[in-house]
Amino acid sequence: MIQLDAAFYPVKNTPMNGLMMHYPLTLDRILARAQKNFPEQEIVSRLADGSLHRYTYGEFYTRTLKLMQALRRMGVRPGDRVATFAWNSYRHMELYFAVPALGAVLHTLNIRLFPEQLVYIVNHAEDQFIFCDKSLMKPLADLAAQFKTVKQFIVIDDRSPEVGIKLKGMTDYEALIQNESAVENFLQFDENTAASMCYTSGTTGEPKGVLYSHRSIFLHAMGISMSDTLAVSGRDTILPVVPMFHVMSWGIPFAACLTGAKMVYPGSQLIGKPIAELIEHEKVTLAAGVPTIWNVLLQHLKKDKADISSLRAMVVGGSAAPPALIAAYEKEHGVQILHAWGMTETSPLGSVAQLKPYMQNWGADALLKQRAKQGKVVPLVEARIVDDAGKELAWDGKASGELQVRGPWIASSYYNMESQDAGAAFTADGWFGTGDVARIDEHGFIEITDRKKDLIKTRGEWLSSVEMENTAMAFQGVAEAAVVGRPDDVRGEAAVLFLTPLPDKKDTFDMKALHAYLSEKFAHWQVPKLVDMHIIDAIPKTSVGKFDKKVLRARL
Ligand code: ADP
Repeated sequence: MIQLDAAFYPVKNTPMNGLMMHYPLTLDRILARAQKNFPEQEIVSRLADGSLHRYTYGEFYTRTLKLMQALRRMGVRPGDRVATFAWNSYRHMELYFAVPALGAVLHTLNIRLFPEQLVYIVNHAEDQFIFCDKSLMKPLADLAAQFKTVKQFIVIDDRSPEVGIKLKGMTDYEALIQNESAVENFLQFDENTAASMCYTSGTTGEPKGVLYSHRSIFLHAMGISMSDTLAVSGRDTILPVVPMFHVMSWGIPFAACLTGAKMVYPGSQLIGKPIAELIEHEKVTLAAGVPTIWNVLLQHLKKDKADISSLRAMVVGGSAAPPALIAAYEKEHGVQILHAWGMTETSPLGSVAQLKPYMQNWGADALLKQRAKQGKVVPLVEARIVDDAGKELAWDGKASGELQVRGPWIASSYYNMESQDAGAAFTADGWFGTGDVARIDEHGFIEITDRKKDLIKTRGEWLSSVEMENTAMAFQGVAEAAVVGRPDDVRGEAAVLFLTPLPDKKDTFDMKALHAYLSEKFAHWQVPKLVDMHIIDAIPKTSVGKFDKKVLRARL
């Protein structure tokens, strides 16, 4: 087994009688709750042919035990890495629990990574088994010969058409588990054992592996179930549009199994209509995804009505939630957007824009501004901002510096990476430097103004690309906008804006009017020149749906 670092604070044990039980926070304890406490609750999954698969947590539990037996028979040993290459579905959730419960490590591969990155990650993690959706076999098969450690591929039949591909040791998931018996044979091990891993999607340099422990996942599941954060509960029906390979679907499957929330997995169909249908049909109360997903849904709902009023909140994270998006959902659908911030290294939840009681009386504009910030740091996580010399800065809404965090679900290092390659991410005094530049206001609300590498320095002053993007996206007719810097003889760097108009404004979009609007909001040297404002068909996106500024910069 891979043992993680011991507790962050080196505390000496003081022998005492009458202390609490030693109860390791391991994922099999979360799994076992399902059978005893909410076996009737449903898990619904959209399959590749559009049909819905439904079963209960009771059946989920039985099948997960069978899967554990099958994994044992395949030779999976504690510490082995077992990878998945799959969409969000009930079988993926079975793997989420079966693999860690054996003491092995679940490695969720990002299906949208560039081939060379995928090869790098599989080899770096030394994956031995890969569970792959049938619909995703083609891209994986093309690379299989380059995987150095993979012994066997297991295919998940997601009801997509046959592809006629053969892979090493290929076995069907259902065939694998069907003759196994469901025995409760849980190992006992330390809560600081590795349970799963994700690699950062590589928007900055080589992908880096982050190893989650049973304890960190367990505590994070409790963390996102607190009413001041995402308030996941047994009364929820949750639709995680965020992929199960993107920071463990933000930890939602674990919190759902802890609390007994009904789950609705969307499979591969993530654009407007199928998502709208799922929300209406299953009466989803909580949905989670990156802004792009909710933007597409919003546009879809303008022409094709659906009832999404069952939603108590939509969690938006991964990139800044534009205020225009927050306002539109509230006004047009009465749905609240809950803006959250996090990273692969932070499991991911770091902060949530839950308002404080005294803010309820604020005016609409002030409230919107507050809710568009990344919010208060969540319980069990600590945050600070520091200047270039590492000096802590004030929470006054003005001082701006690198955001640093620490806590029980924050990474202490990268998997198998020399510290010099990890850069300045981990400080000597035990903080993780996020690379995000932020202010923290007097209410304790974090506001991310940029990633360090995306900041634009124009006329010697920093310009927040996020601020300009949000302003542009609030302008009539703009669907999406991204801002990057280009070298400029006079200004040092100059802002360049790329935008995609709404479909009905494609041919008539008035760039001059947008330029005039930006000139009212920013200093004239910050505003991109008209020749630096471009309409493009679509803003390029990273593998997890964020604006891909690397690609935009390369275009310049
Ligand atoms: P990658 O680093 O490859 O994009 P992550 O998903 O770990 O993968 O990205 C984390 C980063 O995403 C954060 O450092 C931050 O820059 C950005 N991010 C996440 N949530 C938000 C948010 N709510 N607002 C602004 N930026 C965000």
